[in-house]
Amino acid sequence: MGLFGGRKTVYVDADILVIGGGMAGCGATYESRYWGRDLKIVCVEKANIERSGAVAQGLYAINCYMGMQWGENQPEDHVRYARNDLMGLVREDLGYDIARHVDSTVHKFEEWGLPIMKDPKTGRYQREGKWQIMIHGESYKPIVAEAARKAATEVYNRIMVTHLLMDKSKANRVAGAVGFNVRTGDYYVFRAKAVIVGAGGASHIFKPRAVGEGMGRTWYAPWSSASAYALPIQVGAKMTQMENRIVLTRFKDGYGPVGAYFLHLKTYTQNGYGEEYESKWYNHTKELVGDYIDRHPVPTCLRNHAFLEELKAGRGPIRMVTTEAFQDPHKETVGWENFLGMTIGQAVVWASQNIDPKHINPELTTSEPYVMGSHATCSGAWASGPEDYAPAEYQWGYNRMMTVDGLFGAGDTIGGTAHKFSSGSFTEGRIAAKAAVKYVNDMGKDRPQVSEQEYRDLEKLIFQPLENYRLGRNEIVGGTVSPSYLLPIQGLQRLEKIMDEYVGGIGANYITNSMLLNRGLELLGMLKEDMAYMGAEDIHQLQRAWELNHRLLASESVTHHTLFRKETRWPGYYYRGDHMKLDDKDWHCFTLSRYDQNTGKWEMEKAPVYHIID
Ligand SMILES: Cc1cc2nc3c(=O)[nH]c(=O)nc-3n(C[C@H](O)[C@H](O)[C@H](O)COP(=O)(O)OP(=O)(O)OC[C@H]3O[C@@H](n4cnc5c(N)ncnc54)[C@H](O)[C@@H]3O)c2cc1C
Repeated sequence: MGLFGGRKTVYVDADILVIGGGMAGCGATYESRYWGRDLKIVCVEKANIERSGAVAQGLYAINCYMGMQWGENQPEDHVRYARNDLMGLVREDLGYDIARHVDSTVHKFEEWGLPIMKDPKTGRYQREGKWQIMIHGESYKPIVAEAARKAATEVYNRIMVTHLLMDKSKANRVAGAVGFNVRTGDYYVFRAKAVIVGAGGASHIFKPRAVGEGMGRTWYAPWSSASAYALPIQVGAKMTQMENRIVLTRFKDGYGPVGAYFLHLKTYTQNGYGEEYESKWYNHTKELVGDYIDRHPVPTCLRNHAFLEELKAGRGPIRMVTTEAFQDPHKETVGWENFLGMTIGQAVVWASQNIDPKHINPELTTSEPYVMGSHATCSGAWASGPEDYAPAEYQWGYNRMMTVDGLFGAGDTIGGTAHKFSSGSFTEGRIAAKAAVKYVNDMGKDRPQVSEQEYRDLEKLIFQPLENYRLGRNEIVGGTVSPSYLLPIQGLQRLEKIMDEYVGGIGANYITNSMLLNRGLELLGMLKEDMAYMGAEDIHQLQRAWELNHRLLASESVTHHTLFRKETRWPGYYYRGDHMKLDDKDWHCFTLSRYDQNTGKWEMEKAPVYHIID
């Protein structure tokens, strides 16, 4: 708020509003302009699209590229791969749709200046693995952002979107969004005909391994605060597979990526005694999941499972054998560059812990769980599929439209489609945008109207934590403890503790059961009640308060889904101690939820999995 006046309300009208200017949001903004030459395209981002989202720091590989121009892979192959990795459950229509378009996205990136490594012998893109190509990607995000900036009518940076607005005349139709500027505190009311959510995944809903001053050191971006889920959930959009949280095996303490090490440098893992251990757990895993253990490649969660079992057997730590590969100077360079282009922190951790991977095999760890829709996992919103490919049951409107009219999504936001990664998320943004433009064009004069009452009520709610703090700040009991309010960091730590202990985090060895989950829901409910007493000392803390709100709603969703699915589908990601086996008879299906914000109730249902590709 300015020194000399009250808070300003800024009104922005748009045909298409893109929330989040990460990979999916930039793709959506770019493509909206292509199909909607005369439309007003607005992108709103809580950071600055130049360096925002999970790709902010850069990447060393594009993990989803078919290579159809050289006959390397076909879209059907990618669907089979993702289905296998997710233990049979993916939206094959959505996955196929991304795979058939993703190569053209990557070609655009190269045209826009992204340096892609080439194989000197073949002249093709340098492969890291079957699906990955290697890039000099420190500037990946600015390159992609430039395309979005040029396409957008306006980009609003530093605005955190907190709620969607609904049409006052037509139930279940989106009409815009509200939020606030995280620097000035101005209130923003966006009125739009269609909204595309691309607000990234969720870290910090489970207690992280790194705590205290190191708590920002998570694998997934610490600023990924679950808005992608909370915004649609608030307005009653159906979500799918929210139980499918992901746990990553990464280099210890820095969460440096292992993909280039495994795939390109051909490093491998061993236990504390220098032994190969994965094969030891074959029979045991087969007991739990049946033939899924025989699939190739072995699903990511099952490799985690062997890692966790070996640790439980007391034969840790698990190490990556780098000392052999790093004798080759070329491989040594690639190993270090891999971090410098995307996770500099890992190189710093090794330096600070006297680890030279040429002489010492570095330790690996498994991360706390994250919720996302674009990596080796597929939590997110339930979306309508492509007209030419989706089974009738998966089609109720426009491609990538959620179960709320005019509300589209892409990237981490959309569920059921694992392994899209950065290029697939951008591609899905393009797909959603094309459909959103059609939706807007088809709309004619029947435009959504926002209710002044609704956005004024929301304004009061959104800024309340500032008021709570102003009134209660003199009652501090000691340090930062107050009888009148809860600070965002205190609420966050409480959330993380509940999720960790009751919903299968690191502290519980990723195990939970119906008793724990039900108790977890009660405790989450109590935290939800206390959110009315959130105190924010400044606008930055106000942002933290709303990020916590979003994380809390997503956590509730994760807990309900975990309770609903009565099997352990992905051992290594989490375990239902009361249903330890995979159960294809009853649970070869998607889980769907719908939240009613008026009653606070969640409805759960199953949806069929259609195998379209043989
Ligand atoms: C550590 C790590 C390594 C990875 N490695 C690779 C790799 O090697 N290769 C690869 O291809 N992919 C990789 N990925 C995956 C890739 O980064 C993601 O798939 C992709 O970024 C997802 O795109 P998205 O647009 O959904 O989310 P993001 O790119 O994270 O974008 C979300 C955007 O929304 C904004 N936002 C969030 N909430 C709000 C709000 N309330 N209001 C306004 N704006 C908001 C965020 O600031 C952000 O800009 C990696 C991801 C991580 C975290």
